[in-house]
Amino acid sequence: MSFKKKPILIPDTLGEELHDHLPKSRVELHIHLDGAIRHETIWELLKSKNIPLPGNGSLTALKRDLSVRKPKDLMHFLDGFKTFFPIYIGNLRVIERIALEFCEDEAGHGVAYVEARFSPHLMLCPKAPEVTTQDIIKAVLAGFKEGETKYSIKARLILCCMRGRPDECIEVLRLCEMFRNEGVVGMDIAGDEASICESGSVEQEIAAFSEAKKLGIHRTVHAGEAAPAKSVEEALDKLHAERIGHGYRVLEDETLYKRCLKENVHFECCPHSSIFTGSVSLEHVVKHPVIQFAIDDANFSINSDDPTITNTYLPEEYDIVQSWGLTEAHLTRANFNAAKASFLPDDEKRTLIKDLRKAYGVIDG
Ligand SMILES: [Zn+2]
Repeated sequence: MSFKKKPILIPDTLGEELHDHLPKSRVELHIHLDGAIRHETIWELLKSKNIPLPGNGSLTALKRDLSVRKPKDLMHFLDGFKTFFPIYIGNLRVIERIALEFCEDEAGHGVAYVEARFSPHLMLCPKAPEVTTQDIIKAVLAGFKEGETKYSIKARLILCCMRGRPDECIEVLRLCEMFRNEGVVGMDIAGDEASICESGSVEQEIAAFSEAKKLGIHRTVHAGEAAPAKSVEEALDKLHAERIGHGYRVLEDETLYKRCLKENVHFECCPHSSIFTGSVSLEHVVKHPVIQFAIDDANFSINSDDPTITNTYLPEEYDIVQSWGLTEAHLTRANFNAAKASFLPDDEKRTLIKDLRKAYGVIDG
């Protein structure tokens, strides 16, 4: 008897209902707030400010212009930000809106807990000197607070120092201290990582991160992305990093990699951006570092980094690593690893892990 399989039709409305009841099973630790702004919002605000739009001025043209499609290098990848930073710098109302929309988008991707990061100094505007870094942080936290209530998500903030701007490091540390009980959970250093290849971290950066350690302020460091393995070692030893942003190039140094495995160092992996920034070339490597991390049961998470630029979101990050062979079990582990490596206080971390167990249907006892 022949049997012809009929396509299974699912009414659209059913999908929508499912979306509204999505289990919150994901934890995202590495995403830049200013790299996760909706294209629609950028388009609307560029138009309202009469800032020239790329191409024919359509939303599609803007998306095409912002999205990096070919791998090059980190600085080329970061170039896209130049198009849209005028929409938010010094504008507290817009910054709060971006933070709120961010929560909605993350919740829509099944995220239970997210740590977003940004440099408050990069949101200052010379034309609005009355707006301070404190005001900017308050605006983001206000957006997060509203987002948490509206979208049942937990969002916390990491403040970034920027490579090449060492004078701001101590102020970033002070801001972390000031807002530590209001939603800021740690500090980071981002930007032109390749520049540390020759010179290493500068005095002010080392001083700020050493003091952060003394004060119990959590630390993550962008390393081993554009810069070689040595940068990961420096992040651990000089900047006292508890987590490494990216860290792919740690694999170039076997001894250091073994140390990271032994010390259970957490790597915040961002699959699409790793390719678009040219950190990992799929033409030259046999396997992506994420695959090696999975083989070695390393402590890593899956993150989206800068969705505005990659035009890929958390679901696509999961899709790509699955296409490389990672299984559901690897991804579940990655989420629990992320929860354990989060910068939440211990009691909140325990609650998050319990919530994840519920979302995955794993019953305690
Ligand atoms: Zn990053």
